Formats: sequence, structure tokens, C-alpha cells
Amino acid sequence: MENCIFCKIVERSIPSKVVFENENVLAFEDLNPQAPTHILIIPKKHIATLNDVAQEDQWLLGEVILSGAAIAKDRHINTSGYRLVANTNAGAGQSVFHVHFHLLGGRSLAWPPG
Ligand code: AMP
Repeated sequence: MENCIFCKIVERSIPSKVVFENENVLAFEDLNPQAPTHILIIPKKHIATLNDVAQEDQWLLGEVILSGAAIAKDRHINTSGYRLVANTNAGAGQSVFHVHFHLLGGRSLAWPPG
């Protein structure tokens, strides 16, 4: 998708610190980390928001979530706790319109979020 910053990261026309990649999923360090671990996990396929996920994307979204859980284990934050969150639309704080899950951990996380 033209002008999508995360598609450009997938294509490597914008640099990022990739921490995991397979055929369908890419994970990279957030540019502006909000916790000691702050990684973004995305489907390589351009999907603007969770509202735009189609039935055929079920498996793909499952793969994204399982990748997040695997990275949390790899970073040793699976036991202490982590958050995997997808802000959806502007009112929830979504600023990049390519589905992504924030993996946050390495510190205690307050609830409810702001
Ligand atoms: P959201 O506000 O939920 O859409 O999250 C977008 C996230 O993308 C923010 O946490 C940004 O810090 C992050 N971000 C934006 N541009 C980049 C980039 N080029 N590389 C890594 N993270 C980015």
C-alpha cells in the first residue's frame, strides 16, 4: 500500500530494528518505546484497522498474536506479564493505519489505560 509507513518497513524502504520475521508476520522495535520491551507485531499484508480484518484473515491474525506471545517468551516477560494491544481508530490512539499489536512489558502496567 502506497504511503503506508509499515508497508515501507516490510519492504525495507524504511529501516527498522526487526526482531522476528516469517512469511506473513514482521515484528520490530517501536521507535518511541513506552516500556523496556515495546515491539510492534504486524501482518505483512496491508489491513488498515481491526475493523477491516476479513474472514479470510483469521489465520493471519492468529499468527500475529502467537508471534507476540512467542516474542514475550523469548524476552522473558511472559511470566512477569505483558500487554498485547491494538489501538483501533483515532479515538483509541491509532496513528498508523496498518494493523499492529504493541507488545509492552518489562515494567508494571497500569489498568485501566488512559
Ligand atoms: P499507534 O499509535 O497505536 O498507531 O502506534 C503506532 C506506533 O508506531 C507508535 O508507537 C510509534 O512510535 C510507532 N512508529 C511510528 N513510526 C515508526 C517507525 N518508523 N519505526 C518504528 N515504530 C514506529
